[in-house]
Amino acid sequence: MDSWSPEAALAAAQPPASLSQLALTALPPRNIGSRPAFAVEFSVSCKTCNHAVFLISGFPKIAPDPSPYYGLPPGKTFWRPPHNLKCLNCGSVAKLFDARTDGYDGICNGGCSYESGTDGETFVPGSFKVTVTPVYNIELSEIIESAAAFGVQTPDLFDSFVIHGDPVGGGKRFETHYECA
Ligand SMILES: [Zn+2]
Repeated sequence: MDSWSPEAALAAAQPPASLSQLALTALPPRNIGSRPAFAVEFSVSCKTCNHAVFLISGFPKIAPDPSPYYGLPPGKTFWRPPHNLKCLNCGSVAKLFDARTDGYDGICNGGCSYESGTDGETFVPGSFKVTVTPVYNIELSEIIESAAAFGVQTPDLFDSFVIHGDPVGGGKRFETHYECA
């Protein structure tokens, strides 16, 4: 039977505080080969109205030529954090991810290495069913120690974070992956 690692099981029971503006449902664990799952995928719904179709915001930037970004060709748009979700049904806006404050580097090291946007926030084309996946590769004993030192809960210290948007009514999938440690 598939199961979670101890770190992921904690997060499934108590999701990261950075996601507290969203209603989350943990999806069943899927083992990685014979290893227990060390990530928890949550499906997201609106805390206000419980609907589950969103607009995803970000700060678009077009990669220059030559592109300094790995895997991103010149001329292609990428979506810088922070990201918010806007409920298509009721219009509520909820925080999704901020690289400057969330996860291990956000909490313990003053932010992760991603460029964040400050003006020009707009929405990714399309509307989406969204899942978010905090990932825990760090040993439980180590994150318990850091969590105590920084006064946070252990699930807050994810070391990477995946956002996945499944387009509703056609369009392109949205997927982005942040290293946070
Ligand atoms: Zn809503």
